[in-house]
Amino acid sequence: MRAVIHSLCVLLCWGFASVGAQTFPLKDKPITLVVPFTAGGPTDRLARDMAEALRKPLGGATVVVENALGAGGAIATQKVARAAPDGHTLLIHHIGMATMPALIRKPSFDVLNDFEYLGMIHEVPMTIVGRASLEANDYKQLSAWVATQKDKVNLGNAGIGSASHLCGLLWQSAMRTEMTTIQYKGVSMAMTDLLGGQIDVLCDQTTNTLTYIESKKVKAYAVTSNKHLSQAALKDLPTLQEAGLKGFQVSVWHGVYAPKGLPEQTKAKLYGALRTVFSDPRFIQKQEALGAVMVIDKRTDPVEHKKFVAAEIAKWTPIIKAAGVYAD
Ligand code: ASP
Repeated sequence: MRAVIHSLCVLLCWGFASVGAQTFPLKDKPITLVVPFTAGGPTDRLARDMAEALRKPLGGATVVVENALGAGGAIATQKVARAAPDGHTLLIHHIGMATMPALIRKPSFDVLNDFEYLGMIHEVPMTIVGRASLEANDYKQLSAWVATQKDKVNLGNAGIGSASHLCGLLWQSAMRTEMTTIQYKGVSMAMTDLLGGQIDVLCDQTTNTLTYIESKKVKAYAVTSNKHLSQAALKDLPTLQEAGLKGFQVSVWHGVYAPKGLPEQTKAKLYGALRTVFSDPRFIQKQEALGAVMVIDKRTDPVEHKKFVAAEIAKWTPIIKAAGVYAD
């Protein structure tokens, strides 16, 4: 009798699971990639490349990008945490997943427990850039200018919790200078103001800065990686460590997250489609041309990705707490 009940259950369970698998993706529901920052910025650009490339491995599904702005990424993160776990709403976020828990006083979500992790995508070094009209021509001159101008220097960022915010905090603390911080809802807006000369400096991902550096619309001073970068316009820039800021290293990783409770088969289908995209030579070439480095190690695995984020939270929390910055 027990054996009969067991086989019945196996059949039924398998039956339910395969119905779930068949129904994802639903024909009449688009898959929405929720981006926490403005259109035209590095996270948005990555999501749009993904939206285009995901269509085919998901059987021709419609994939759209939604920019849910505000609170340095918390609005988008909360939106996805509360969305139906049907695979149709995904969050494309970055190192902010690890800095938000320390930067937001009362987060309405738990980054480790409210999400299904779907693996890391790529890592991006950052560049310290300045408006084209700055007199400083190298990092040493920039640093001397900042030291004399102090809070007269306007430093842009993409809001509390963004990568540019984190980098700016670390940079000010390493230089022992407080600049005036101007916050935007995405680094594409900060870049517009840097190009217009309304702000002076920005620490931003190379996926956003490279083309402006190449066209000499902004000046580049240093990189946040621990080694020199290979792109022609970046290869002569010192690392911030070489420029005298001991231990300074920031790498902006991006990952994919779904609301907790995703059915296993939907998760497997999504994960498979994402891996197809991330190993597509055209997709890789687009990311690497802008200085991103695809993650090809164990962090592409959901379990390892989550462990890595937990380690990043442990790494950044004391640094952020010491800097004393919070958002409500
Ligand atoms: N990734 C953000 C954006 O796309 C910028 C940042 O985090 O600094 O605007």
